[in-house]
Amino acid sequence: MSEIRKLANYINGQLCPPQGRRWLDVFEPASGQRFAECPDSDVGDIDVAVQAAQRAFPGWSATPIAQRAQFFNRIADLLEARLEEFAQAESRDSGKPVTLARRLDIPRAVSNLRFFAAAATQFSSEAHAMDGAAINYTLRQPLGAVACISPWNLPLYLFTWKIAPALATGNTVVAKPSEITPLTATMFAQVCIDAELPPGVLNIVHGSGASTGQALITHPGIKAISFTGSTRTGAAIAAVAAPRFVKLSLEMGGKNPTVVFADWEANEANWATLLRSAFANQGQICLCGSRILVQRSIYESFKCTLVEKTRALRVGDPQDPTSDLGALVSRAHFDKIMGHIALAREEGGKILCGGDAAAPEGRCAGGWFVAPTLIEGLGPGCRTNQEEIFGPVATLIPFDGDDEAVALANATNYGLAASVWTSNLTRAHRVAARLESGIVWINCWLKRDLRTPFGGVKQSGVGREGGVDALRFFTEAKNVCIDLE
Ligand code: NDP
Repeated sequence: MSEIRKLANYINGQLCPPQGRRWLDVFEPASGQRFAECPDSDVGDIDVAVQAAQRAFPGWSATPIAQRAQFFNRIADLLEARLEEFAQAESRDSGKPVTLARRLDIPRAVSNLRFFAAAATQFSSEAHAMDGAAINYTLRQPLGAVACISPWNLPLYLFTWKIAPALATGNTVVAKPSEITPLTATMFAQVCIDAELPPGVLNIVHGSGASTGQALITHPGIKAISFTGSTRTGAAIAAVAAPRFVKLSLEMGGKNPTVVFADWEANEANWATLLRSAFANQGQICLCGSRILVQRSIYESFKCTLVEKTRALRVGDPQDPTSDLGALVSRAHFDKIMGHIALAREEGGKILCGGDAAAPEGRCAGGWFVAPTLIEGLGPGCRTNQEEIFGPVATLIPFDGDDEAVALANATNYGLAASVWTSNLTRAHRVAARLESGIVWINCWLKRDLRTPFGGVKQSGVGREGGVDALRFFTEAKNVCIDLE
């Protein structure tokens, strides 16, 4: 049996163990085997990290923007040079196919760093002239030490998506990755050390949400919290942060509709995208379409083809380049997904394909795999069509016209993303405007321009990330008014 690797926190420029010497087990989802331990940090570790961030803030915020940007470009270069190693680690830690980590997760982490390095140098603020009476200009100043909390589904991708704009605008950061997938954040710490990022600018503290996360969000030294995760945790964080008036950005869950009109262009490329939109990363992407709404006139033929294509997806060892789907991230998440499938059955849903654990052989026999699952016959109000499942499970629902499609699409408490498939441009614009959703893709999915506002409405989020929105979140606007009379 290979040695259990002990991961470290990164505080004040140093890799260090947790003060309390308590550790959490880290598992490889594909095998179900424990392979590492990550710090179970406590209030003391968070306090030291916040103090380090506070000490680093005056120097870092006074560092010229171009110089700050150079650090991120250097870190991006070092990360890119180690792309394969990071992709292997991300796959091992999260269960996702290594091909996905290689193609999506790690390249996107590199892009996040480069994008915000450049964006910060181009960030400008406004001036407002008052008819010769005065001139106002807006200063955009960093906040201080801020908290970044990220989930397990796209570990390094979402971690860098938060820390890059926070740091590039001159803040210092205490970050808490999900303790379920702590590996690449730990490796990232070493890259920061190699890039000679000044001590205390970025601090990474591992541990559970209930202890480490809670200590972080309640620390009086934290000026803002940027959180991505479930709606339930987001609500708990908001309840703590709001009375203390801490600036808050929440990116939360989704129950996203994929709306397919009869006139959609059913070519191979579009089918492949539509299938990915349901099952990429085992359905564990907040943007995955988990409710597939199909115009009734094509419903039966669409269903047959979708079932056939879903059955053809290969669930297997994430290391195997032919695997389309890997393992679910944890035993607890596997149980949750299986529970949702059982619930769908109880609610009267018909399982069209999947509906069971998948059991690859060999080293993956003990892993947490679920076959991609399609369900039909459930009304829009049932729990299966209301609750975020966050796994390889999608429902099929027929609709007649535009109005019904929009009503069904909007019939949940979530509002993160939607995709609409139609050849009718007028309909596409009309439907997009009526969807209660932060993001609408027309005839595509997960096409991301990092300059665009990213986030959800209703219970999917508060605030926007991406581009200038992220830079604005991590700065405070101060108006300066100069008398001209
Ligand atoms: P969780 O909400 O369980 O956890 C997210 C992060 O918050 C983790 O680091 C977690 O730590 C931490 N956390 C948990 N409780 C607290 C607390 N009280 N105080 C501070 N931090 C805490 O989400 P998951 O990790 O399960 O991620 C899946 C969810 O993320 C899904 O709902 C998905 O839709 C959403 N998501 C949203 C995205 C978006 O952009 N809108 C993008 C990606 C995912 P720990 O792991 O230790 O519990």
